[in-house]
Amino acid sequence: MTELSEAIPVPSVPSGLMGEPSASGRFGDFGGVYVPETLIGPCQELDQAFRSAWGDPIFREELNSLLATYAGRPSPLSECLNLSKELGVRVLLKREDLNHTGSHKINNVLGQALLANRMGKTSLVAETGAGQHGVATATAAALFGMDCVVYMGSVDIARQELNVFRMRLLGAEVRSAESGSGTLKDAVNEAMRHWVSVSESSHYCLGSVMGPHPYPWMVREFQRVIGDEARHQSAELLDGGVPDVVVASVGGGSNAAGIFTGFVDTAAQLVGVEPAGGAAISRGVPGIVHGSRSYLLQDEWGQVQEAESISAGLDYPGVGPEHSHLAATGRAVYKQVTDSEVIEAFTLLARTEGIICALECAHALAWVSRARSELQGSTVLLNLSGRGDKDVAQMMGLLG
Ligand SMILES: *Cc1c(COP(=O)(O)O)cnc(C)c1O
Repeated sequence: MTELSEAIPVPSVPSGLMGEPSASGRFGDFGGVYVPETLIGPCQELDQAFRSAWGDPIFREELNSLLATYAGRPSPLSECLNLSKELGVRVLLKREDLNHTGSHKINNVLGQALLANRMGKTSLVAETGAGQHGVATATAAALFGMDCVVYMGSVDIARQELNVFRMRLLGAEVRSAESGSGTLKDAVNEAMRHWVSVSESSHYCLGSVMGPHPYPWMVREFQRVIGDEARHQSAELLDGGVPDVVVASVGGGSNAAGIFTGFVDTAAQLVGVEPAGGAAISRGVPGIVHGSRSYLLQDEWGQVQEAESISAGLDYPGVGPEHSHLAATGRAVYKQVTDSEVIEAFTLLARTEGIICALECAHALAWVSRARSELQGSTVLLNLSGRGDKDVAQMMGLLG
């Protein structure tokens, strides 16, 4: 990759981006509700329930109180003096790694669990890949006294036994998704199939800004707390200004969407970073999967292709529809990094700042590090989506 290709266009401050989707649940040409007829009703019920809850100050207050007293919000903004010196770029980290359960996923899950409770649902069903969203959902289910079923690909169950045990410890039932390749996309399929049969009593707690409307919108709204806090915190640090660049890793795209909401109306450049082996926006084509239209990795026959990345949390062949729209409008740009760049960034942050981060957000740092010459002297806000405890065994195997 040449240095010049890192140059990112200066955004014109747009209007109307990251607002409500259209009545048919679309962001531009992307999104929608591509589900079997039996799920149209449950999706509509959820849309109405979310609209009413999100407009209700009591619901907002309950959620804010949970985020503060249970998840530990607000998460701090850390200025990285050592790293900044090393890169020649002023780096600020939004510390989602310090949340309860170790990542941004808890923000969304607490929102959805509170909503499910308000809807009178008594159980949660979820999908999980590496297990992080499954653990967060099992955590919320325990807190709310709800039953919890988590679908996980058979291959992922075998390679993530610690998270499987965590979910069981939290009282959840982990079910193996045996179809397809036994990974995340198959777990989503089976969770949706299960939801059809139990939607009366059960809420499907989806883990990212994907799936049929209202999920991409609702999950982004539950994650916007990251951007709202970061906007306020960076203004305090930057004399009322905003960072030059806001960067986040993109799997389904929820942590990126969360932090982007806080800056979409500013002149800050928005950058999403995908793994080279799962670069749905950079290398995919528009298609329909898991209920919505978005960029998607497909083979020559139009079949969904497997994503492959060092980070199981980014092993997803699609991307949330709003990111496809942000890419199409040019408001955000999407970059790819390789596994070896990610490993280097992971060790760099540990060595310079004493922070062992999740491999997912090491993707965002890998891009900053590679683009450092174009970024000289600028201020970069990086969403540190999670902590790296879950990844140290894997890294020990690689670097030990
Ligand atoms: C799940 C996960 C991601 C990827 O999901 P998004 O929806 O793209 O945010 C990123 N970072 C961490 C720490 C995760 O657990």
